[in-house]
Amino acid sequence: MAKIFCIANQKGGVGKTTTTVNLAAGLAKLGQRVLLVDLDPQGNATMGSGIDKRQVELSVYDVLLESASITEAAVQADKCGYRVLSANRELAGAEVELVQLEHRDQRLKTALAAVDGEFDFVLIDCPPSLSMLTLNGLCSAHGVIVPMQCEYFALEGLTDLVNTIKQVHANLNKDLKIIGLLRVMFDPRITLQMQVSDQLKAHFGDKVFDTVIPRNVRLAEAPSYGLPGVVFDPSAKGSQAYVDFAAEMIKRAPLL
Ligand code: ADP
Ligand code: MG
Repeated sequence: MAKIFCIANQKGGVGKTTTTVNLAAGLAKLGQRVLLVDLDPQGNATMGSGIDKRQVELSVYDVLLESASITEAAVQADKCGYRVLSANRELAGAEVELVQLEHRDQRLKTALAAVDGEFDFVLIDCPPSLSMLTLNGLCSAHGVIVPMQCEYFALEGLTDLVNTIKQVHANLNKDLKIIGLLRVMFDPRITLQMQVSDQLKAHFGDKVFDTVIPRNVRLAEAPSYGLPGVVFDPSAKGSQAYVDFAAEMIKRAPLL
């Protein structure tokens, strides 16, 4: 059975997409069968996996509207070692179209059930809002991975996300829980970041992943080559950290 995780945080620019593509590549590197689902109409995870979002024939949009299956729509990200259910601008329209349909929040879940045996991990890159798209992600998942920067306002944003997850857990998806908080873009030389990191550990305990992702320019450069950092420059500190994170996820997965 595939373990399905949303990478979510209502803030933009916190490292959701970077985490999704690099965790996918790290898991693939460690021999796991991975499907990446891009649920953000910006299509950054699609482009960052080397798939041109302007040229995709079938995307997650077609899957949500039930005009294609995941088997038909997912494509192999050749250099990355995982499969991608891609997104593009068309997906923004799905929001409106879904409103009129039955089981509108369960569509991705139903589609994923059909390919359950084919993957070890499914990673869903969520948009930075609580939309019908994000809700489809949260309804499909066993848990949420929350990338966050150790800054003052990060904690504030977290309260909203925790409340959202509680509501979805109570009303729509009994499986859903926070798997963990992933500290990203971390710079230990900045005192505030160390303080916030300590606060996180005090408050959330073992819900904070052991792995810490450093701020690393190679991770930021990689998308312009259409590659995750883990593939673009495996020796970079940030890439190594994401492979460590993949190993931590493999270790935790059977307990989740
Ligand atoms: P989100 O998907 O949450 O909007 P992104 O993953 O797109 O966030 O990251 C926002 C920006 O930060 C991007 O330009 C990305 O390349 C950069 N970035 C993400 N993680 C790191 C990191 N560990 N070190 C340096 N830059 C990073
Ligand atoms: Mg993103």
